[in-house]
Formats: sequence, structure tokens, C-alpha cells
Amino acid sequence: MSDTFKAILVSRDAEKKQSVDVVDLTEADLMEGDVTVAVEATTVNYKDGLAITGRAPVVRRWPLVPGIDFAGTVIDSSHPDWRKGDHVILNGWGVGETHYGAYAGRARVKGDWLVPLPEGMSAHDAMAVGTAGYTAMLSVMALERHGIVPDRGPVVVTGAAGGVGSVAISILSSLGYHVIASTGRNAESPYLIDLGAAEVISREELSQPAKPLAKERWAGGVDSVGSHTLANVLSMTSYGGAIAACGLAGGMDLPGSVAPFILRGVSLLGIDSVMAPKPVRLEAWRRIGTDLDLKKLSTLSRTIGFDGIIAAAHDIVEGKVRGRVVVDM
Ligand code: NDP
Repeated sequence: MSDTFKAILVSRDAEKKQSVDVVDLTEADLMEGDVTVAVEATTVNYKDGLAITGRAPVVRRWPLVPGIDFAGTVIDSSHPDWRKGDHVILNGWGVGETHYGAYAGRARVKGDWLVPLPEGMSAHDAMAVGTAGYTAMLSVMALERHGIVPDRGPVVVTGAAGGVGSVAISILSSLGYHVIASTGRNAESPYLIDLGAAEVISREELSQPAKPLAKERWAGGVDSVGSHTLANVLSMTSYGGAIAACGLAGGMDLPGSVAPFILRGVSLLGIDSVMAPKPVRLEAWRRIGTDLDLKKLSTLSRTIGFDGIIAAAHDIVEGKVRGRVVVDM
């Protein structure tokens, strides 16, 4: 009999009622792919919280092993790029949404979806970064492409104490930006300052319906909240600035005005991590290796075991998680 490994499985009954169970699987239960990986570390992202709680339709294949991120070691490969023993990372590509994901001892995926674990980084470190951190890096790269350099003025990070926010603050401050962190958890100010925020403002300053234009406060920003927050952030962006929009923790709508675009030449930069092409991913992970102080990862992450995943998934959608959660399998 093949070896079994533990997995989380989300299922749906005839009335479309979702249930979540811990089950034993074998490699024969995994989906198609040309590389099989022993999962060593994973993480709980906001999207994983939505998948496990069923709060939003992230899961699009039933039943499904959730988990959009993993780091581990190749145990079997027929893909030309990967050999047994290689250390790899996977972020997105529909894994944990339409393809069996990270919350299992083994994962079988397409080799084209994998990137190498950067030199000097452990599987644990890579998952302290995870999709949230890699998305933060994609956001910073988008701001840079738009010419938003530290000399242009402050940058704002919303959802600051969350995963994307915490890593964005760490990276931006390491690069020399004056970072304004917006949080709903004022008690987390010391944590945000420790990560590198120069100023901390209350989420409430940005959560009311936005004026078409407001006083110019920042040259750029990383927004993981959406809705009124993003509309306010845009209305307060200075002439020629840019905001990288990557999340919807506060809502999917954008109740704003075109005034920042047509009167101040502000740009809204869309960030998608899931289907980002491989060269972009490789560059983002290379930059994470050089521009993110790995020591800060221990400040911004906490570690749980496989048994803690379901509780952490509930906590993250309730806004109770600070920074990143790493799962050592
Ligand atoms: P977290 O839950 O870790 O962080 C989200 C943060 O947003 C919270 O910590 C909180 O920060 C703030 N927040 C939560 N609820 C609200 C609310 N109702 N109003 C205002 N602020 C709120 O999630 P992640 O950092 O993992 O992800 C953040 C967002 O980015 C999610 O929407 C996620 O889906 C999206 N995302 C998108 C990706 C992409 O490819 N575009 C990839 C990864 C994530 P605080 O307490 O400091 O206010």
C-alpha cells in the first residue's frame, strides 16, 4: 500500500453546504502534474481563509485541497527543469482554487508553475514571505516602473498590519522610502514602526466616502484594502503619483472619482500574483532575496503546525492575524 499523508479537504454536499475535513490521502489521489513535491512549509493567506471558511467563492473544484502557497523538495519529476532533491516554491496558478493545493504532505503540480527557492532562504522563510509577500514585492516593482522613487515623497501602505502590508512596509523602508502605515489596529503601532514605518495613521482616516480630490499626502502607495480606502488613497495622491492596488480586504468596489486621474495624472496600477508570468516571478523572488531583510521575517511571522491551519484561516478573515502565518508541516 502507498504511504498516506494528511490533507485538508473542502467538500460540498448536494445543497452546496461546505464542509472541511482532515483526511488521509495517497499520491494516487493527487491531481495531474509532472512534478511531485514533499511539502515542507506552507502559509495561511487571506485567500486561503476565504477558501476554508467559504466566505467567498475561491474554491472552484470539489472536493479540493486548499492552500495557494508551498515550499518543499521535489521527490519525483518528468519536467526538464526539475530533478529529485530540488528545493522549490509555488505561488498561485490556481493551486488551492482549481488544483489540489498546499495543505497536504505532498503536492503534484506542473513544473512550469514552480520557481527555485532563492539561495540562502529556507522553506520556512519562503513561506513567511508567501504569496502575500511576493505580491508586496510585485507592488513595489510596479511603483518603481512608474518612477516612484524615495525622493518623490512618502508612500502609504494600507492594511498595514496584514501580510501584504507588513512585507510591503519592510521592503519599502529597506529601500529608503518614507512609509506611512494605515491600520485599524492602533495597538500595532510599535510593531509597524519596528518594521520600518515612519508614521502610523488610523484606518478611519481613509474609510469614509472619498472626496474627488483631497490634500496631497503621498507620491505612491500599496493598497490591500480596496473600496473607500483605495478611493481616498487615490484622492490624496500627489501629482503624477501611482497606487498599486492588490487587495480587497475592505471590499471589492471602488467608489471614487476620475478626478485624481484626469486632474493630477495619478495612475492606478493593477497587481495580480496568481497568473503573473514566470520571468516576473523570478525577478520578484530575486528582489525579495536582496531587498527584504530576512531578520524582519521573524518579527512579522508566527509559526503554527498543520493542526492550526483551520483556526488560522478563520482568524485571518476576521482580521485577527498580524503579519504572516507560517505552517511548518
Ligand atoms: P491579511 O488579512 O493578512 O491583511 C489584510 C489587512 O487589511 C488586515 O490585517 C487589516 O489591516 C486590513 N483590513 C481587514 N479588513 C478591513 C476592513 N474591513 N477595512 C479596512 N481594512 C481592513 O491579508 P493579506 O495581507 O494576505 O491580503 C490582503 C489582501 O490582498 C486580500 O484582499 C487578499 O485577497 C489580497 N491579495 C491579492 C493578491 C493579488 O494577487 N492581487 C495576492 C495576495 C493577496 P489593519 O488591521 O492593519 O488595518
